[in-house]
Amino acid sequence: MNPNEENCIFCKIAKKEIPSEIINEDELFMTFVDIKPINKGHLLVIPKKHSRNISEMIDPELSKYLAFVKESAEQMKTSLGCDGYNIGMNNEPAAGQIIFHSHFHIIPRYKDDGLTSWPDKEYEEGELKKYAEKIRKK
Ligand code: 5GP
Ligand code: ZN
Repeated sequence: MNPNEENCIFCKIAKKEIPSEIINEDELFMTFVDIKPINKGHLLVIPKKHSRNISEMIDPELSKYLAFVKESAEQMKTSLGCDGYNIGMNNEPAAGQIIFHSHFHIIPRYKDDGLTSWPDKEYEEGELKKYAEKIRKK
């Protein structure tokens, strides 16, 4: 076993070695309730096979992952009657990742729920273009 998997709490959740409130699952993925919600009903969607984050995920699982996330998100929206939802993944500590097993967050949102979005920054003259050039594949 990959040493990273041995003490991975989400691998243990996937194998049902530790309990979680499962919403739905198939052979590849599982959706369960986050214990510390940003809004109540906040869900996590994991691949059952261990990967650190999206950088380590490969096809065919990766391309099926989003469809599973969408299904859980739509189910949550219908059941809770929320006004919308955020889908997001934190990749690496700088981005807020604390559990190193891939997971998408699905966060139910309500009009005027008081959650503020990230602050905007301003590009200097010509800087946006420079960033695009840097990121674009050669
Ligand atoms: P990250 O910051 O890595 O993107 O988010 C990890 C998420 O996992 C957090 O929102 C945290 O509340 C959730 N979490 C951590 N441990 C457990 C657990 O044992 N069970 C459940 N259901 N969620 C967990
Ligand atoms: Zn794991």
